[in-house]
Amino acid sequence: SRRQLVAGNWKMNGDKALVDKVQKQFAAATLNNMDVVICPPFPYLGLFDGKVKLGSQNISQFESGAHTGEVSVAMLKEFNCQYVIVGHSERRADNNESSSLVALKVEQVLNAYLTPILCVGEPEDVRDDGTLFDYIAAQLDTVLLKVGISQFADIVLAYEPIWAIGTGKTASPAQAQEVHAFIRGHLAKQDNNIAANIVILYGGSVKGNNAQELFSQADVDGGLIGGASLNPEDFLSICQAAN
Ligand code: 13P
Repeated sequence: SRRQLVAGNWKMNGDKALVDKVQKQFAAATLNNMDVVICPPFPYLGLFDGKVKLGSQNISQFESGAHTGEVSVAMLKEFNCQYVIVGHSERRADNNESSSLVALKVEQVLNAYLTPILCVGEPEDVRDDGTLFDYIAAQLDTVLLKVGISQFADIVLAYEPIWAIGTGKTASPAQAQEVHAFIRGHLAKQDNNIAANIVILYGGSVKGNNAQELFSQADVDGGLIGGASLNPEDFLSICQAAN
């Protein structure tokens, strides 16, 4: 059975005071049956004391060198960062990240033995016009083609329907389960064992009052949390729902 994971994606929010608050909250908590990951903006990574696992929100597709403004996987490792969010829909939109660039970033993260949290998810019009599964399959296939199915043993996936992000319009547990099962089935066509073991997070307006029901779906293995991760009490209650 898969261990549940809850990752907080602060996006471009938070401050040093929030780092302190979150650390105090989680120092006092006992969460033995799940993993917590915090993904703050880069400047805050070095301020964490090791009680929670750390992830970054982005990474360069390059290893090092003349790439002004970029951060490498080697740098993240020096700050004990174990996870890297790759292909978040906000980066695909704000920074024109294509699935092929996303695939290069996943490869870079895997080469450094960090864990990519690879995000996929459809805009509302794609769901409405009935091409949802093709859309998600295409996002996965670009990465599959680049790194190969065996590498998916070291990847965490996140299904984040774009219409549910920051909108309060959470996918229903049945809607989330349907897509998670599709994703697992899509991978199972290439490798049953890897498909059965991969952790698939749901993201999009997860809150303390809907986390339990979402996380109890058969193919939902935790969450990727935006807004609610900025409130330490709310975030802890979401983590407890996965414990
Ligand atoms: P919200 O939880 O604010 O909807 O954000 C979800 C998300 O994009 C996490 O990566």
